[in-house]
Amino acid sequence: MVYGLGIESSCDETSIAIVKDGKDLISLKVYSQIETHSPYRGVVPEIASRAHLEKINSLLAVCMEESQLSYADLSYIAVTGYPGLVGSLMIGAQLARCISLVHSIPIVLVNHLEAHLAVIGLEKDLPAFPWLGVLLSGGNSSIYFYKGFGDLELLADTLDDSLGEAFDKVSAILKLPYPGGPTIEKKAQAYVRPKGELSPFPKLLKEDGPDSIRFSYSGLKTAVLYYLKSLTEPFPIEKISYYFQKTAFELVVRNITKAIETTKIKTVVAAGGVLANETLRSLLEEESLKRSFQLHYPQKKIYCTDNGAMVACLGYHLWKEKKYVGLDFKVSPKRNFEQIL
Ligand code: AMP
Ligand code: MG
Repeated sequence: MVYGLGIESSCDETSIAIVKDGKDLISLKVYSQIETHSPYRGVVPEIASRAHLEKINSLLAVCMEESQLSYADLSYIAVTGYPGLVGSLMIGAQLARCISLVHSIPIVLVNHLEAHLAVIGLEKDLPAFPWLGVLLSGGNSSIYFYKGFGDLELLADTLDDSLGEAFDKVSAILKLPYPGGPTIEKKAQAYVRPKGELSPFPKLLKEDGPDSIRFSYSGLKTAVLYYLKSLTEPFPIEKISYYFQKTAFELVVRNITKAIETTKIKTVVAAGGVLANETLRSLLEEESLKRSFQLHYPQKKIYCTDNGAMVACLGYHLWKEKKYVGLDFKVSPKRNFEQIL
């Protein structure tokens, strides 16, 4: 049996987990800083680092206690090294270094984005590589050609705002709480679309041909703003939320379809905070049936958000390949591993 510790502190969740054999969750603790950042409607890096520092040791203590393991039982420490807020990453990194130094446990450095995809290994046997890794979160709208552990190639990216960011900004425009995703989803679900009603928002990137796979959401945000300006109060919040989601998700589906056609890869793994959205989940399920691709995404919503379990899960595979790092390893805001060596 191989037990591994996962440490996540890249953004606004402090999290520690213990995983067995890279597939069984033993303990997971997540402290979300959402309330702390909520007055600012976004993550404030300095506040995030301080909050990680305050919480991380107690989360570790609770996890160890719950697992009934001692440090001697741990085979590896997996820590998120990139990408993320550097001040925040350093808190997790320093904890990993301390435990490693005191208990002589090797460290593996984990790509946060890759961990979001690999986390499905906690729910099922991992499908054979290659995958199309679709990341939809507060910081990313991207599609990766995922060839094997530690081997990702960016296929599609956003030109401006990420999908999660668009949810958060539209939520601010509609004077709804931060983060926007969960509230906009609820409002959209409450809307009963009259038969034949047209969307007030244009199709996104409609000029893009079959070879161009990219995301862009800042135009949709502006379209929402101008639509609101054209109306008088009370605003039809449910209707706007409904069509915002519909327009935004249509681009996700279109890009996944294009990526499958271009690469001929029919294993799609979707992940990130926006995958908590039930409408998106159902839409992707429908598309996977219609277009015969294999779809995977974290069933448990806690695995969609940033969490230490995904770090420990991916860390297991890196540990098996002996991809250890020394205590002098670096952390980085960049998403490309080569750039941080
Ligand atoms: P992450 O960057 O992976 O931590 O995810 C956070 C982002 O996911 C934020 O931008 C949220 O607004 C977004 N999000 C969370 N829940 C939902 C949801 N149910 N629907 C859409 N977006 C969501
Ligand atoms: Mg987060």
